[in-house]
Amino acid sequence: MSDDLHGAIGELLGDDGQRYTTGRRNLVEVLRRASRPLTAAEILAAGSLPLSSAYRNLAVLEACGVVHRVAGTDELARFELAEDLTDHHHHLICTECGTVLDFTVPDALEADLAAVTAEVASATGFRTRHHRLDLLGRCADCD
Ligand SMILES: [Zn+2]
Ligand SMILES: [Zn+2]
Repeated sequence: MSDDLHGAIGELLGDDGQRYTTGRRNLVEVLRRASRPLTAAEILAAGSLPLSSAYRNLAVLEACGVVHRVAGTDELARFELAEDLTDHHHHLICTECGTVLDFTVPDALEADLAAVTAEVASATGFRTRHHRLDLLGRCADCD
């Protein structure tokens, strides 16, 4: 998947007239290795980029749809690779420390969600492109 991933990201960036530089690849690798969305500080700690270029490159990756900002319960922005590039998943959000963890649900539940989505669409005319299912609570470290 790794080569496909970088190829797809190179195309996304190219569509916006951006180059897939070493620094951007470094950021993507940090996010790819992470098992959960990371704050900018965590990305910096895990990568080897100077602060200023890391923030600039993160903004470019976000603008090109490579990286998504994950909504949490605190003021810290967290980032992950876009689901189009990885796999569909959901988030566990700790209301105590703000950490966000990834989790997946069984295919049967995803199928049920798709069925509900179709019902909602026919009842409301709302065309759903995506869904979120976040669980809020206390993580194991905070409990
Ligand atoms: Zn916590
Ligand atoms: Zn889902």
